Amino acid sequence: MTKKNRTNFLKLTITIIILLAIVLLISLAIYVAVSQERRINQTSNQRVVVFVLDAGDWRIVNPLLKEGKLKNIAYLINNGASGESQSVYPLYTSPNMASLFSGKPPSKHGITSHFEVDDGETINALFKNMQVKPIWELLKGTNVTMDLVGWQEFDKAPKIDGTVVTGLYIIKKVAEHNNYFSESNHNFNYFQYIPNFILTSKNNGDILSDYKFLDNSKDIMIKNNLSLKFDTLLTNITVPYTLGRLKFNEKRKKGVIDAKKYSKFIDGIETIAHSDISAKFLFEYDMLSKEISLDLYKRHKSNILFIYLTGTDLYGHNYYFDGWQIEDKNNEQRQVYKYYEVIDGYIGEFLSVADENTTFFVTSDHGIQNLTIAKYLYAVPHPPAHSEKGIFIATGKGIKKNFKIVNESIMDLTPTLLYMYDQPIADDFDGKILLNIFDEKHMENKTIKRIPTYEEKSQPMQEKSEPVQEVSIEYTDDAYDEE
Ligand SMILES: [Zn+2]
Repeated sequence: MTKKNRTNFLKLTITIIILLAIVLLISLAIYVAVSQERRINQTSNQRVVVFVLDAGDWRIVNPLLKEGKLKNIAYLINNGASGESQSVYPLYTSPNMASLFSGKPPSKHGITSHFEVDDGETINALFKNMQVKPIWELLKGTNVTMDLVGWQEFDKAPKIDGTVVTGLYIIKKVAEHNNYFSESNHNFNYFQYIPNFILTSKNNGDILSDYKFLDNSKDIMIKNNLSLKFDTLLTNITVPYTLGRLKFNEKRKKGVIDAKKYSKFIDGIETIAHSDISAKFLFEYDMLSKEISLDLYKRHKSNILFIYLTGTDLYGHNYYFDGWQIEDKNNEQRQVYKYYEVIDGYIGEFLSVADENTTFFVTSDHGIQNLTIAKYLYAVPHPPAHSEKGIFIATGKGIKKNFKIVNESIMDLTPTLLYMYDQPIADDFDGKILLNIFDEKHMENKTIKRIPTYEEKSQPMQEKSEPVQEVSIEYTDDAYDEE
């Protein structure tokens, strides 16, 4: 190489280095801009995880806490505010979930039962039939993002900014895993043809691609002394009765007295109930909801994440003999306690990855049964197998520690979440902001924004603000007559 060539080579190298540096700088600038946009999109780094344990009940939690079990729930109680949650009537899951999501009672949201018969099919139609806006509608366009996992009350996933995974999607995956889609199992076959895009919305997050972890369910259940099949005296009384009622209602609504074919939905429930793995099916349902939620929590980082777990209800119905006021002759009640320990472990998995910006709520739609089996079977009108007292725990930054709340209603969660994210509270909410769970320091700089309503029928919204004042609310004893 001549001296001139060397000089040219050097110049070329320097030019390339400079060009590379410019490209790098531009990339960096774009990256910073994009990540800032991500930060702007999500106005707050405050995160909330809401666990809804179906039929979660202090009568099961408290004895376990006394034994030193449920370490994660104990942690949340000791470091947060807790108490009973008052459900709305009728005491079924759907009306209460609709109230939890809307801050309004069934007289306003219009959901009064589990199912509706539409074109001859019994379906879950909470989302479709709600007459008021649920929280995911209220948050549209607010930059507060939200995910929902495990809602069996949806026949399809609402399209929102976050990720919705319906219970039907979970059922489909669990059915697939347990080979329910075989030729011999006609009742379940239709599930595999419902497209995932109807059962989920995943604008900002993925649904798991690998479901192999479900293979571990059997071992975990055996390790915890959990039966794979619900098969107790309680199962044998309540399951045929419930299926009979579903079929009767469907026949009545269809106006057909001698219908032999029932909707796929009822057939599906019957298939699970009669299989040898009715408990394992449910175990995997919750296990999958937990895995999907944990994945969304770690990767998607939405502001609010709702996780619905269903097993606490059915383990209660099948094993909580005290609640049915029947003697537990074969020592089977321990299984419902064991299942609560499993759920406590799930909560612990979130606690171990959560930072201080995450607030946890643990609540339930209603409590577990508190009536005699005779009343359940023969009383007219038929009473729901649930108590009106559920559980409520809130733990996180700005929330009082070791604080007992006495007047929480299932309708309070939505106003409280809106308040936490500085969104307006509507005058037509029946639920209230749970102001007394927050500490003074938290409320110093907070204002409550109010609007008349979020519903469309009314006049244009006018915002007004007021400073936060701690309201003292009287605790009133309930007129409800528990036996
Ligand atoms: Zn329920």
